[in-house]
Amino acid sequence: MKEQILECGKGTFCLPHSAISDQFEKSSIPSLFESKYDVAVVGGGASGLVAAIFAAREGAKVVVIERLNRVGKKILATGNGRCNFSNLNLDITRFYGENVKFAENALEKFDLEKTLDFFERLGIAHQVEDLGKIFPKSEQATSVLDVLRYEMERLNVEERCNVAVTKITRKLHSKHDKGAFLLSCETRTTSVRGGYPERTSRVERAQGNNRERVEASLCHFVIRAAKIILSTGGKASPNLGSNGSGYSLAKTFGHKTILPFPVIVQLNFKERFVKQIKGVKFKGKASIGVDDQILRADEGEILFTDYGISGPPILQLSRKAGEQLQKNKQPWVELDLFPDLSNLDMEKLIMKRIAFQENKPLDCNFVGLINKRLIPVILKEAKIKNINMISRKIKDSQINSIVKILKQWRFEVIGTQPWKSAQVTAGGIDVKDINPFTMESKLVKGLFFAGEILDIDGDCGGFNLQWAWSSGYVAGTSASK
Ligand SMILES: Cc1cc2nc3c(=O)[nH]c(=O)nc-3n(C[C@H](O)[C@H](O)[C@H](O)COP(=O)(O)OP(=O)(O)OC[C@H]3O[C@@H](n4cnc5c(N)ncnc54)[C@H](O)[C@@H]3O)c2cc1C
Repeated sequence: MKEQILECGKGTFCLPHSAISDQFEKSSIPSLFESKYDVAVVGGGASGLVAAIFAAREGAKVVVIERLNRVGKKILATGNGRCNFSNLNLDITRFYGENVKFAENALEKFDLEKTLDFFERLGIAHQVEDLGKIFPKSEQATSVLDVLRYEMERLNVEERCNVAVTKITRKLHSKHDKGAFLLSCETRTTSVRGGYPERTSRVERAQGNNRERVEASLCHFVIRAAKIILSTGGKASPNLGSNGSGYSLAKTFGHKTILPFPVIVQLNFKERFVKQIKGVKFKGKASIGVDDQILRADEGEILFTDYGISGPPILQLSRKAGEQLQKNKQPWVELDLFPDLSNLDMEKLIMKRIAFQENKPLDCNFVGLINKRLIPVILKEAKIKNINMISRKIKDSQINSIVKILKQWRFEVIGTQPWKSAQVTAGGIDVKDINPFTMESKLVKGLFFAGEILDIDGDCGGFNLQWAWSSGYVAGTSASK
């Protein structure tokens, strides 16, 4: 690449990548990298945007650096596009991590009341739905992102989109320079050239359609800031930006990572027959367990898929499943298709149906009670060989087996769906090396963290966004001091 230094905008310079580290070492060069920002927020997700707002409200000159073409893409995907942004039942017991007490301070400092007040002042009226879930009254995630962006604009927070931070260094140049952070950034630039684009068809070429060709090239530059907030998220849903790059950035400063694993994610079953019933939904109860112990249960709509199972209760249980899989344990899921009936009531109900129509084939006797596609599978699972037998010929032991499947149908969990299907990351940067009262690194002064990058995650239902807001608030206000 040709050696050149270009000005890309305030405080940023395009350099050939190979030159960047050399330039840092040369004391004559740093004047190029004028300290333009008090705070650079790396990652324009929920936590980064709130951190930027609070840092700017304290008077700091703030830049948000975002690798995607716009900030807050994940916010738009939350709550099925409605943004379940908090929960009435906010409590530390809804959060997880190796050292979960770490989250207490931020959740108290920027609690539910402060969160609702913050958003209300920005324009977000709210409504509470089932299980205490809080949504914007507009029922639009876009409105949450819009008000955050309006506020950033009001506070003159700069947004640098399509810019990925690839490396961060810190240099103590002289006694006049307090040791700013130098953020190596990469952006893709495009230029338009004449000629045929690669996908031009032969016909188009024959017609002489000499279209313009768009060429992409990488541009490298440096942003300098007195303090940085790492809010790059975890590894869940990488299509929405969070690709785990923040872990490598933090590791260069000595920070350790608790092994991340996907949570709020669908589960894979060992039993291959689930493929036959993929798409079948039912309202029921799911329990996750290991050995003889039930670890957690949840009710709601459950969906069989070709790999296993999905639905809100399953997503909620997935953390427990992930924890066990991390320990090389063998978790299981038990499904109850009739949580409102006891085993005895279930048995009575089946007997009553058989008595009503005792000459009907057995499988037909379950039509109207359970999804038709489940009937042969359930009867086979109950070890009933002739599922078309005349109903009155059924034995008591066979009724008991059917009840057992309907009420305690057990499946072996062999994994979760991959990162691209996960909503949240469990694990992440070890919080032992971070001050819970400021979110500042204990290893490097001026380095702050916020959001899902940290080894803190919450239940499904608004808790993860609440963690993003609360940790963002603490990091932003502390970094601006
Ligand atoms: C589909 C879906 C639905 C969800 N629904 C809900 C819900 O309803 N309620 C709830 O509470 N939670 C929900 N969550 C979880 C919640 O969205 C996240 O926990 C939260 O957004 C995390 O915020 P964050 O700022 O820590 O990280 P992210 O939102 O992941 O933001 C990190 C940002 O950093 C950028 N970035 C990463 N690396 C770099 C780099 N090197 N340089 C520059 N930029 C970088 C990324 O592009 C990204 O924009 C959902 C998640 C998903 C995926």
